[in-house]
Amino acid sequence: MTTTGGTPRALVAGAHSSNDFMRQRNLSAVLTMLHHDGPQSRADLVRRTGLTRSTIAVLASELEELDLVRALGATAVPGQVGRPSALLEANAQVAAIAIHPETDAITVGIVGLGGEVLRRVRYDTAEPATARETVRIVRTIVDGMRADLGAECRIVGAGIAVPGMVNTSDGRVLLAPHLGWKNESIAAALTRALGVSVVAGNDASVGATGEFAFGAARGVQNLVYVNGTPSGIGGGVIIDGVLLRGMGGFAGEMGHTLVNSSGTRCHCGRIGCLETEVSLERLLPYLGREHIDEDELDIALGLGRDPALLRELAHQVDFLSEALTNFVNLFSPDTVVLAGYLGSLLSVSRERLTDAVRLSPLGGHVRSIRLERAQLRSRLMLVGAAELVFERTVLPVLPSDPG
Ligand SMILES: [Zn+2]
Repeated sequence: MTTTGGTPRALVAGAHSSNDFMRQRNLSAVLTMLHHDGPQSRADLVRRTGLTRSTIAVLASELEELDLVRALGATAVPGQVGRPSALLEANAQVAAIAIHPETDAITVGIVGLGGEVLRRVRYDTAEPATARETVRIVRTIVDGMRADLGAECRIVGAGIAVPGMVNTSDGRVLLAPHLGWKNESIAAALTRALGVSVVAGNDASVGATGEFAFGAARGVQNLVYVNGTPSGIGGGVIIDGVLLRGMGGFAGEMGHTLVNSSGTRCHCGRIGCLETEVSLERLLPYLGREHIDEDELDIALGLGRDPALLRELAHQVDFLSEALTNFVNLFSPDTVVLAGYLGSLLSVSRERLTDAVRLSPLGGHVRSIRLERAQLRSRLMLVGAAELVFERTVLPVLPSDPG
């Protein structure tokens, strides 16, 4: 998967517009900029790409003809003499269906180019829905949304973010323990039910993709994303703008990095994995709660003074720090993004965790790595699942079949 961040690496100044390959890359890069970074004038695009005004004009009108980009109308810039510049924006009516099954709900959204969530339905379930039930529920919700959205909305595909091991090449879920799914051909089943092609991805990879395109890691090229959920800790690594997949698409199981040889036994069979030492489940008894959402947790941790709670917090932050130092040494990212439960730990221990990503145990020098909390919160899984679709279907601006 190739995603283009803020730097237009695909562009070559003065590219030969007669060259179809280069033209397509330039179309793709301009559309990706408008999609990820919002409305921009032709002058902005000239400045950011290094292409000539006439090349940008040709690319923009071609994207407008394909109805992937629309003109927003002229806006006068205060103090600017001369013709006001019209803004171009990605057409939000070109949209993807986004699906996120969890243990207690299935959320379905329609996400337009530009990352706007146009529609969203959360369907609560008393217990985790089976794969078959999930397909049936999603189909019913999507049928209702399609009737509501009208003919102008062009659905280009669907993406599903699954909390489990997903073979990204064929969309099969090998194992999603918390959903009780095993060896489910979820992408194929959804494709039959919805009549559009469906891409499946692991929820942590989807989160990395979403934060990279629209959130805390927008504009960077190298990202380590680590997410804490009730199902454990997962992650995604993007290097030079490309998500690391590994064989079968299983790369990024950061939760099973060993951090404590005298720790707790993990469900994977080993002792002292990151996700057994750092978990919301371990913390809840100290808060006197059985469940807590991210916003409530931020408040509870900010106000917490109980010594036992603070000891447990310090224990978890120490092990998270160990793991982050390892990840930084392995991947040398520009930015580390912590999401979910780990974002809450960052809000109360920013200094300790920042030291962990900035101090090299090898050289002892301070590195300029940014440590950020994920920004997209409740939109993340929908925006990320839609991005799986856009980056395969729309953003490459593939030529249509001749004739
Ligand atoms: Zn483990």
